[in-house]
Amino acid sequence: MPVLSSEAVILRTWPVQEADLIVSFLTRDYGKMRGVAKSALKSRRRFGGALEPMTVAQAWFAEKPRQELARLDQLEILHSPLAQPVDPTRLAVLSFYAELLDEALPEHDPQETVFRLLLSVLEQTTVQQPAVQPQPFKSQSTAPANPGSWMPLTYFSLWMTRLMGLLPDLAHCIVCGEALEAGETWFNSYTDGLLCALHRSGSSSALAADSWQLAQRMLRQPVATFAGETWPRRRAQDLRRFTLQALERHLEKKLRSAEALARL
Ligand SMILES: [Zn+2]
Repeated sequence: MPVLSSEAVILRTWPVQEADLIVSFLTRDYGKMRGVAKSALKSRRRFGGALEPMTVAQAWFAEKPRQELARLDQLEILHSPLAQPVDPTRLAVLSFYAELLDEALPEHDPQETVFRLLLSVLEQTTVQQPAVQPQPFKSQSTAPANPGSWMPLTYFSLWMTRLMGLLPDLAHCIVCGEALEAGETWFNSYTDGLLCALHRSGSSSALAADSWQLAQRMLRQPVATFAGETWPRRRAQDLRRFTLQALERHLEKKLRSAEALARL
């Protein structure tokens, strides 16, 4: 039973008998895995704080023949989400990444693009700093705007929708194929893609011009591009709802972390 090693991100843990934990973790090389961390609750030595969801770590594990769960031997933290300040928004966003990946990804199916997407949004998922009041007689700060966690959440949701094959061309109406225009696009909870004014149904919601343009930019540019922009909570709220509806329709379940985010 060879011991394998891969860079990995911890998704979720569940306590099982005695002091063991079942760990769901996303590895770069082997895809999503589930393993048992023996005595994880008793012996802090081996795992330390590495079982915190969204910890990036080097993982060592072994797969036993004919057994569903791998044996998780060791984790060496590369980056902990607790290394930066935490607030309720950042925590809820990190939980959303974990829950969506755990629900959506099949096991043993490595997806390099998803792994890289996750690392890039994790880097951007920070606590929002309060806006600085302009002060007279002082040169205005050139510090970049801090968009907090709403921007990477929007980027991650949009890209996961795309990578799961749930995002048709956003530039055209999915019914008639006519080119859409900013401020003239709609979506509903039971179809993928966007609709023109003629083909929207009574229950459709509008996608604001800014959100529509943003979605198209986000599909072309890396997440760090958007780090200099201002992101109040309400920005692109409709775009997040559009992507969440597609994801939940595909998963055939509501995501608990999305409900927590909606309550913030
Ligand atoms: Zn149409």
